[in-house]
Amino acid sequence: MSETRDHDSQNAPKPNNGQFIADMVIEDMAKRADFGLRKYGTKLQAHNGRDALQDAYEEALDLCVYLKQRLVEDDFQEGDVKAIYKKYQYRCKCGKGPMKGGVRLSPGTDKQFSQFFDMLDLTWAESHNQPGCGLKDKTVTTI
Ligand SMILES: [Zn+2]
Repeated sequence: MSETRDHDSQNAPKPNNGQFIADMVIEDMAKRADFGLRKYGTKLQAHNGRDALQDAYEEALDLCVYLKQRLVEDDFQEGDVKAIYKKYQYRCKCGKGPMKGGVRLSPGTDKQFSQFFDMLDLTWAESHNQPGCGLKDKTVTTI
């Protein structure tokens, strides 16, 4: 992880004229609730037959992947030459939920790259930990 991203080394937040993030989140939350209503015919309710803890855990795994993607992408400098872009896809024997995406890295970040894939391996394994699950194939393509 980059030193500039270290939580403890950051200064306290400075007030400015920007929109409050919490207000933006509330707005997004209302949009998501409306999306759920259109998609499922109801907004999220308790006792709906779903395992909310499992759903939340799986969403958290997705969140980690997307956060890491942005951290890795942010480390990439526009001036860097010969950026490496890799696409990946994991498929399970169960046939559900293939995991795919892409990562762009600057040269000389092999360690970051392997850490990224270690994390993806773990994410995939944890999301496919059911009877009938097992890695069918994993493809990584350099573009
Ligand atoms: Zn599976």
